Amino acid sequence: MTYQLPEKLKQLQGYQPGTICDTKLSANESFISIPDEIRRDIAKQIWELEYNRYPDPLAKKLCRKFAEFFSVPAELVTAANGSDELLFLLTTCFMNAGDKLMLVEPDFEMYRVYAEMAGVETVVYEKDAHLRISTETLVAQAREQQVQALVLSNPCNPSSLLESREDILRIVQELENVLIIVDEAYMDFADESVLQDVELYSNLIVLKTLSKAFGLAALRLGFAIANKTITNALRAVKSPYNVNTASQIIGTIVLDYPDFIHSCIRTIKSSRNDLYRRVRDLQKEIPDIQSVQNSSANFVYVQVINAADVHAFLQEKSVAVRLLGEYLRISAGTKAENDAVLRTLEEYWEEKVYSV
Ligand SMILES: *Cc1c(COP(=O)(O)O)cnc(C)c1O
Repeated sequence: MTYQLPEKLKQLQGYQPGTICDTKLSANESFISIPDEIRRDIAKQIWELEYNRYPDPLAKKLCRKFAEFFSVPAELVTAANGSDELLFLLTTCFMNAGDKLMLVEPDFEMYRVYAEMAGVETVVYEKDAHLRISTETLVAQAREQQVQALVLSNPCNPSSLLESREDILRIVQELENVLIIVDEAYMDFADESVLQDVELYSNLIVLKTLSKAFGLAALRLGFAIANKTITNALRAVKSPYNVNTASQIIGTIVLDYPDFIHSCIRTIKSSRNDLYRRVRDLQKEIPDIQSVQNSSANFVYVQVINAADVHAFLQEKSVAVRLLGEYLRISAGTKAENDAVLRTLEEYWEEKVYSV
C-alpha cells in the first residue's frame, strides 16, 4: 500500500503566477517603489534586527501604527502574513466542516479554495448583469441557505466595482448571526469603508492589506479589524509567530510616512483613470471590447471577445494581464506600462482586422 493524498488535494492546482513578462500588470501590485529616504530608515533598523529572537507574536508596534493610520483602536487589529493567511484562518478555524460560506460571484478566487480545504460548503450568490449586488436578494438567499459566514471583496476584485457602505452595513445588520467578512484590499482607492463600524457589530470583520496601495506586496502584511471577541479568538488561533520581524519593522516604518502613502494612492488612482479612459476610447473603435467597468480599484476589468486569444497575444509581446473567463483584468501601471498594454491591444486588433 502506498500513501494516497486526500481527495481534495488530488485535483488542487497551486497558484499559477504566470510567466515573467517585461510589463507586469497581472497582480494588482503598486508600481511605485519606496523612496531612498524611507529605504535608509529601513536599512538602519534592519541592521539592528535581533535575528536570533522570535518575532513579537502580536506585532504590537506594527498594529499600533496601522491603527493610527486608519484611526481604529489598536486592540482591535490583528496582523497576519498577508490577508491570505487571515482568509485561511477564518475559513478553517471560524467555520466547521459542513458549514456554509456564501460567496458572491465574480469575486476573489481564493475564498473558494480555502473553503474547500476546510471542508466548508460554498453557496454562491450571482451578481446581476451589471456585476452588482442586490442586498435584498443576497440577504434572502443567505437566510434561506442558512449560511454561517459570507465573504466578499469591496471594491471587488475582479469587477473593480464598489458597493456603498450603507449596503454593506445593511447586510451586516440583516444577517446578524452570520459572520460577515469584508475584504477591503482595494478600499484605499475608494471611500466606502466599514472599518470604523467594527465595534458596533458582533458579526463584522474587515480585512486590509499593505500589498496593494501601500506597495509592500513583498512583505506579506495583512490585517484583520473586528470587535474584541472576534479579535481575541483570531489572535488565539493564529500561529504565534506568523509575521516575521523584518516585515514588522518595515511595515511599521512605512506606515509612519502617511504623506508618502497618500501621494502613492493619488498617483495610482490617476494611472487607473488614465488606463480606464484609454480603454474606453479604444472601445469606441473596437467593437470586440464589450464592456469596461468604471473602476474603484487599481485595475480595470475589460470584457472582450476571444479574451483568451487576446491574453495570449499580450503574453507573446511580454505584457502580462490577468485572464478571467471573458474578461481581462489589467492593473494600473506606470505611464510606460499603460502605454505598452494599450499599444499591444491596438496591435492585436490591427493584425486581426488585416488578417480577415
Ligand atoms: C490581493 C488581494 C488579497 C491578498 O492580499 P495579501 O495581503 O497580499 O495576501 C486579498 N484579497 C483580495 C480581494 C485581493 O485582491
